[in-house]
Amino acid sequence: MSVEDIIGSALLKERIGIDDVVALLSAKGAEAEAVKEAARNTRDRMFGDRTFVYGFVYFSTYCRNDCAFCYYRKTNSLRRYRKSADEIVALSGSLKDAGINLVDLTMGEDPVMCADGHRTMRDVVRRVKEEVDIAVMASPGAMDETSFKPMSEAGADWFACYQETYNRDLFSKLRLEQDFDRRLSQKTWAREAGMLTEDGMMVGLGETVRDRADSILRMGALGCEQIRAMTFVPQEGTPMSGTSASTSDDELMSIAVMRLLFPDRLIPASLDVEGIAGLRTRLDAGANVITSIVPPKMNLAGVAQHELDIDNGHRSVHHVLEMLDAMGKRAATCGEYNESVSKMKSKVRIGD
Ligand code: SF4
Repeated sequence: MSVEDIIGSALLKERIGIDDVVALLSAKGAEAEAVKEAARNTRDRMFGDRTFVYGFVYFSTYCRNDCAFCYYRKTNSLRRYRKSADEIVALSGSLKDAGINLVDLTMGEDPVMCADGHRTMRDVVRRVKEEVDIAVMASPGAMDETSFKPMSEAGADWFACYQETYNRDLFSKLRLEQDFDRRLSQKTWAREAGMLTEDGMMVGLGETVRDRADSILRMGALGCEQIRAMTFVPQEGTPMSGTSASTSDDELMSIAVMRLLFPDRLIPASLDVEGIAGLRTRLDAGANVITSIVPPKMNLAGVAQHELDIDNGHRSVHHVLEMLDAMGKRAATCGEYNESVSKMKSKVRIGD
């Protein structure tokens, strides 16, 4: 089938096989633009002019793992920080006041926060929920199965855990000494506990186009309400620091294809890869959520780009809202966002 025919099939909700997904991801020039245009129109049909905006609070950069691609791997020598619960609540409150819909509470697998079934992290989630009253995404890395129900009861609306790739060999080279199936189960356990889930893949880590197609189909089939693609950025001090940096082209095609295949999912445009400069291209590819908004001057880091556009304020809520306005879009109100969350939650299977 031609790219045009595959787009037509996707719009008619016909089943798209992996060969067709590879063809969409491989489209170039005018065909690539047609894929993005169809994705953009699909996003607008599903979500109108509303864009969801997420704040990012990377509250602990300590980690017990040694992922080959990550700046915060335990063997990289760097100055780390862990924010107090009071600081996290205050940061979340200021994000909400500025117009953010959700606060993403992210950490490395910090042994202090993970101890005793993630009790300290859970206490932070509970306090943010009670004192700030905002939607919360918990991004603590991988947890034991028994920790999910308490995390949900503490108030986490979402649980995010990125597989990065569904190619098991590649996974073993990236997430060193971590179990593929345990990480995959995170999404299932979170759903069984009543939370919405986010999965993600990284682009430019040595995967093939077919690997990317497979990851997209698998993330979608898993039922995650939010799915993402992010370009790998080589990090200093890691075994992959010498890897050539990719352009964002493959990420943009992945965003567009995810939108065409899974029209109702939330798909982020992350500021963590190219900062504010990459916002328009990601929204033009069909994204409907802006993630990684970080308040300036708070000594907070990003993940893929640990400093990019943070202290100059370009990743602040104010700056992002101005950009949205210039693009004819608007940030959703918290009421609109919470309504979407409630609808999605009503469809999540609750475990016993
Ligand atoms: S990707 Fe996450 S789990 Fe892996 S080293 Fe980095 S912070 Fe730790």
